[in-house]
Amino acid sequence: MEAKEPCLGGITMWSIPLSVPNLSGNELKYVTKAVETSWVSTGGPYVNEFEANIASYVHSKGAVSCQNGTAGLHLSLILCGVGAGDEVIVPTLTFIAAVNPVRYLGAEPIFMDCDNSLTMDPEKLRVFCESECIFSDGRLKNKSTGRAIKAIIVVHVFGNLADMEQIMQIAEEYHLDVIEDATEALGTYYSSGGYSGKYAGTIAKIGVYSFNGNKLLTTGGGGMVVSEDEAILTRANHLSTKAKADELYFVHDEVGFNYRLTNLQAALGIAQLEQIEDFIARKRDNYLRYQEAFDEFPGLKLLRFRSDIRPNYWFYSLYIEDSFSVQRDRMIQRLQALGIQTRPIWGLIHQQKPYRNSQTFQIQTALEYWKHVVNIPCSSNLSPSDVDVVIAAIKNSA
Ligand SMILES: *Cc1c(COP(=O)(O)O)cnc(C)c1O
Repeated sequence: MEAKEPCLGGITMWSIPLSVPNLSGNELKYVTKAVETSWVSTGGPYVNEFEANIASYVHSKGAVSCQNGTAGLHLSLILCGVGAGDEVIVPTLTFIAAVNPVRYLGAEPIFMDCDNSLTMDPEKLRVFCESECIFSDGRLKNKSTGRAIKAIIVVHVFGNLADMEQIMQIAEEYHLDVIEDATEALGTYYSSGGYSGKYAGTIAKIGVYSFNGNKLLTTGGGGMVVSEDEAILTRANHLSTKAKADELYFVHDEVGFNYRLTNLQAALGIAQLEQIEDFIARKRDNYLRYQEAFDEFPGLKLLRFRSDIRPNYWFYSLYIEDSFSVQRDRMIQRLQALGIQTRPIWGLIHQQKPYRNSQTFQIQTALEYWKHVVNIPCSSNLSPSDVDVVIAAIKNSA
């Protein structure tokens, strides 16, 4: 066949996109090496190296790669023993991938509200466990369904951290496993308090990262499971590689998955991780630039990250007050006409078709934020002058 180069345009039609990959480091060099050595699939040295580098960066005992964050969450739930007929407490304000794996296993989600950090409200979580459940024989049972509640999935929304001190305490009290969906929070850590120095994803039993195209780091698609428990890491690795008990004779001891990252993806990941602190520094500078501009402007404010953390500044949330003359959807449209990409928060998950009949508990704050927040451009290759263009466009939309 005659070679004809496939034609690809630029990544985006936007003049200022919301969040795009930044591949300005050693990406091409390492990917080329993978191609040149023919290690393109799940074998090859980059996968182990990337796992080790992530573990070392977040100070976890180990890391197990996955095809994406969703796969990592799926494995995590299995590792917590969640199965058909169990229930799992989840947030409603999140990306749907945090919840779908519960259903993959035939389990049911129970939706919780967020607090002003946009992450799970620990007060409401406690009230739910106290008033809507029965705790006996070391098991938490949902009064309304009679089913066992096994775990909590906490999502560190937009690079913020959930209130892990409170959540871990509640989980311990009621014997619930906690899975940290840290897909948006790689690099975020506590800078004070009891968990000072602890990275998002390394506090609970299991943590999950994602390397999707819009995340802080990308491998095209990819994910990682971290844990302090050696047995969990071993089993995660086993399950992600088809539960092969013997390499030569293809003996399998349970139903496994084809979830391991490829060497090509890991090549990208290694190059990306080399730049993570530069990405965060740029995102912090841009965040502060937006913050300064909007704090002076009536009707707008940039939502803060928790004060006891070093955030990774993944996504910026602009809160449009009712007093502002232009409301959310109108602002999004006006910016779109200027080539500036923004978006509302995800549709709340308890309102999505597959979950409309699921149990919810006192959801109020999430609705409020859903109505008022717009995510504004935050790529790590956004220049200060791009930020100024966005600021002017938003101010002029009033
Ligand atoms: C991105 C994301 C995921 C899933 O990650 P994928 O790698 O896209 O599967 C899960 N949860 C949240 C909150 C996310 O933002």
